[in-house]
Amino acid sequence: METLSGLSRRRLLAAGAAGVVVTAASAASAASFGNPDQPAEGAVNVTNPKALTDPGPQDPDLAGNEPAFLNPPATDVNGMPQFWASFNLVPKRIQNGGWARQITQEDFKISTTIAGVNMRLGPGGVRELHWHQQAEWAVMTYGNCRVTIIDENGRPEVADVKEGDLWYFPAGLPHSLQGLEPDGCEFVIAFDNGDSSEFNTLLVTDWIAHTPPEVLAKSFGVPVEAFKNIPVHSKWIYQSNVPAPPLADVEAQIAASAGKPPNPYVFRRADFKPLVETKSGTVGLADSTNFLVSKTIAATVVTIKPGGLRDMHWHPNADEWNYWIKGDGRVTVFNTGPQAITANFHPGDIGYVKKAFGHYVENIGDTDLVYMEVFRADRFEEVSLSDWLAHSPIDMVAETLNLDPSVIAQFPKDRPDLVPA
Ligand code: MN
Ligand code: MN
Repeated sequence: METLSGLSRRRLLAAGAAGVVVTAASAASAASFGNPDQPAEGAVNVTNPKALTDPGPQDPDLAGNEPAFLNPPATDVNGMPQFWASFNLVPKRIQNGGWARQITQEDFKISTTIAGVNMRLGPGGVRELHWHQQAEWAVMTYGNCRVTIIDENGRPEVADVKEGDLWYFPAGLPHSLQGLEPDGCEFVIAFDNGDSSEFNTLLVTDWIAHTPPEVLAKSFGVPVEAFKNIPVHSKWIYQSNVPAPPLADVEAQIAASAGKPPNPYVFRRADFKPLVETKSGTVGLADSTNFLVSKTIAATVVTIKPGGLRDMHWHPNADEWNYWIKGDGRVTVFNTGPQAITANFHPGDIGYVKKAFGHYVENIGDTDLVYMEVFRADRFEEVSLSDWLAHSPIDMVAETLNLDPSVIAQFPKDRPDLVPA
């Protein structure tokens, strides 16, 4: 299999633009496997190849990134709201110390349950002390970061996290983030509400600046003059000193008589619970069963080897927001209608699959495909199509799909999830 990057992607685009994508083989198979609905859809039904060309204005690099949009599989039908988005295509807000970019429901209408943020903090870069109405889940994708939080019982925690680690800050609990040496950090946040915005959080600088000085003096028990140099504008992200103090020193300095939170707000990469391991890859779990504080977000990290498939399935309890980390994947989403649309996914992309909509994920590259599935739920739940059919009355399945019972008997019965198993 070739990767759909660089030259090969452009070649594919050129092939699509030239209208030579319909082969005799695919036209023949369309008679049995193509879209059966009327009016007939799909390139397999086009009789004059000129109808397939795309002579209008286009950006070949951008368009070539999505071969499944340019030349959908014959089985795609009827369109559906866009379920593909990408951090690669949104502007950064940059300040001294780091940057962030986001995809909220305002940008990505389908994404009602999750707003996504991609943030980079250089070494010593600080995301200002703040809080918000939504819970914040995050995965570290690069480097080293120090997080602080305090819970509703006055129990503080400070922790250093690295690539693959998670944190979860419940709604309303205040926190801070700081990039550490040698090269700061990068991470992706999922807020548990699609309307959330990283650029609209409750900032400690804003509140202090907008409180009468005599109230500040009373509230903190110090003279009014002590506040004469407070910033009158928020900081959001700012550059601080490096190196940061040793973790143990900070831990001692912030210690409270109430003690530490009983369950940590950070989760280590090594603690993902192995759910699936087949020759085609692995699925690891972090939900409230093993990341105890993560009561509104359940997540998995999925690795699919070249040629592997995360088999046809759906999630009965929540929409799936997925974040693509490595490799090249292809997903088709199925809804009533019927509607079925296919998209390609690359590092930095986001996908969104509504609750109970059918889907699969295929590794179409020649390297491992790694992505995370994120759900606004306390538990990860999934129904496997092959598992269901294998455990339904065999004559009923045979009649429904016009299959020989001996074929159904070969369906996987033990939820391999990643196939071939
Ligand atoms: Mn936050
Ligand atoms: Mn899924």
